[in-house]
Amino acid sequence: MGPAGGDAVRQGLSSPFPVPTLPAPEQVLREVFGYGQFRGPQQEIVAHVVAGGSALVLMPTGGGKSLCYQVPALCRPGTGVVISPLIALMQDQVEALCQAGVRASGLHSGCSAEETAATWRDLETGQLDLLYLSPERLLSPGTLDRLAQAAPIALFAIDEAHCVSQWGHDFRPEYLQLSVLAERFTAVPRLALTATADPRTREEIRVRLQLEQDPLFLASFDRPNIRYVLRDKDDLRLQLLALLAEHRGDAGIVYARSRNRVDRLCSELQAAGYDAVAYHAGLDGAVRRAALERFRRESGVIVVATIAFGMGIDKPDVRFVAHVDLPKSLEAYYQETGRAGRDGLPAVAWMAHGAGDLPQLRRFIDDSNAPPSQKRIEHGKLDALIALTEAPVCRRQVLLSHFGESLPSPCGNCDLCLEPSTAQDVTEAARKALSAVFRCDSRFGATHLTDVLLGADTARIRELGHNRLSVYGIGQELDRSQWRSLFRQLLARNLLRADPERFGALAFGDDDRLKPLLRGEERLELRLPPPRRERRREGVAARGASVALDPADSPLLQHLKAWRLEQARLQGVPPYVVFHDRTLVEVVARRPRCLEELGQISGVGQAKLERYGPGLLESLRAFQAQALGSRQPS
Ligand code: ADP
Ligand code: ZN
Repeated sequence: MGPAGGDAVRQGLSSPFPVPTLPAPEQVLREVFGYGQFRGPQQEIVAHVVAGGSALVLMPTGGGKSLCYQVPALCRPGTGVVISPLIALMQDQVEALCQAGVRASGLHSGCSAEETAATWRDLETGQLDLLYLSPERLLSPGTLDRLAQAAPIALFAIDEAHCVSQWGHDFRPEYLQLSVLAERFTAVPRLALTATADPRTREEIRVRLQLEQDPLFLASFDRPNIRYVLRDKDDLRLQLLALLAEHRGDAGIVYARSRNRVDRLCSELQAAGYDAVAYHAGLDGAVRRAALERFRRESGVIVVATIAFGMGIDKPDVRFVAHVDLPKSLEAYYQETGRAGRDGLPAVAWMAHGAGDLPQLRRFIDDSNAPPSQKRIEHGKLDALIALTEAPVCRRQVLLSHFGESLPSPCGNCDLCLEPSTAQDVTEAARKALSAVFRCDSRFGATHLTDVLLGADTARIRELGHNRLSVYGIGQELDRSQWRSLFRQLLARNLLRADPERFGALAFGDDDRLKPLLRGEERLELRLPPPRRERRREGVAARGASVALDPADSPLLQHLKAWRLEQARLQGVPPYVVFHDRTLVEVVARRPRCLEELGQISGVGQAKLERYGPGLLESLRAFQAQALGSRQPS
């Protein structure tokens, strides 16, 4: 197939393993993928499959399903065969594997005759570790025979296994025929994987794929790095812009219910200076494909979409998913929000809901032509959504209990856990925030303004002389996250506005709203997060991230991302295939000085170390030298 660079990349690398001695799973994890530890049930699953066992694996999106078959495929003799329904996903995985030095290829309708022939040749000469196939291709005449003769098969992985279920939401008739694998290849382990957890679908998968006798591995469906934030709809446009102002340069998805709304919101975001693209079923296929490609290959693109968008997106660095309308069900909500933060770094699932949404949805159901039994089901789904919007203590507790899991204490990483339910008088604090904006000439964002208010001693503050401002250090009554929340809410109320031309620098907003506050004629009450030490289960928010980035380091991170984009462009692959954000963040935090130190960082396996290590270190050094130079007095 043609992941650009697939063959070229492979040629430059020898197989990571000498053929006869097969490596241990931990070694593959470390040397090929650059990870220190298995996650959740991965280790158990890998051991089971390496020993020849079959299984069904249920893990949430982003849980790490791929390694469950990629590692055993490299630890067992022969080629691992992966059945995957979506070409885009297959291409991503093949590209990512080739970058890691794994000999992977794919067969599907998008491959040319030469690519197909080359793949078969590699397979037949024992040159492939992993082969990705669409179900159509696998079941097309002759393929199974040829596979059986070509090479020993290490395992079959059946990805998105819920496609076999007629109950599920993406039934694909070809999946039903995959039962043939159990009959023809009795000795080959079969691993079925899905993120759809409901028990009915689960049982159907086991029956149809003949896995009734095999174990079920069920990972927790919790996604601790995702922060769930629900808001009452007020001025939706402003609220959304306030959210985006905190995510400058981040990739995100905004879900809206109708095509009209998608088009309108998308133009509004563009007008506000954001790199937004629209995606819905009413758009021409080529336009949709282009939007999808930009989202995958560039960084910081925001897709405004109906639910038509999402299947087949495994971009790891989506930092926010925003719902401006209620989703169809809690399952849909979980699946859509699950597209955020697959890399394990902090991400936000944000939703604005209005009092009018529910009656309208109820009416839709009542007015539809569905039979009464179906209407009851639909109303039940709405009830579950209401339970989320009206959660008494913690959103995550409601979500997980819906999926049959219980979280004993509140999560500490949702709006209800982070913000107390009573508003407090923040008039004085708001005035200080506004003075800071004014004293800093409306040229800085919330992070720097907070540093000034808290009297932080950073190089930037000293360079700018902001430690001599009258507002320096006057904001000790709130902590950092409270100031951030205050700035966010001032934005949402139009007391401040973010200047898109200046990377979100904050300036004064609506005069009519500001004046009464500044003159002391009006007081302002807002809900702020509790002070840091009082927060429950402190640290949960950061649990996903192994390292936190100092805001002062963000120029370096941007520099490394630009370097990565260049590497990706040269090969025609998405940037995250080169290195995940998470890896770059760790590089910034640790500042490795040599290849050996770089090799310790998560996500840097041997092949990537050889391929990119020298360039990455050079890019790091260049930035540091330049930063030093610019600090010298001229
Ligand atoms: P899924 O297919 O379940 O949605 P993926 O297999 O794409 O999830 O994995 C999600 C992300 O987590 C990927 O970026 C992957 O590289 C990363 N990942 C998976 N397992 C580990 C691990 N053991 N250590 C570190 N990162 C991991
Ligand atoms: Zn919570």
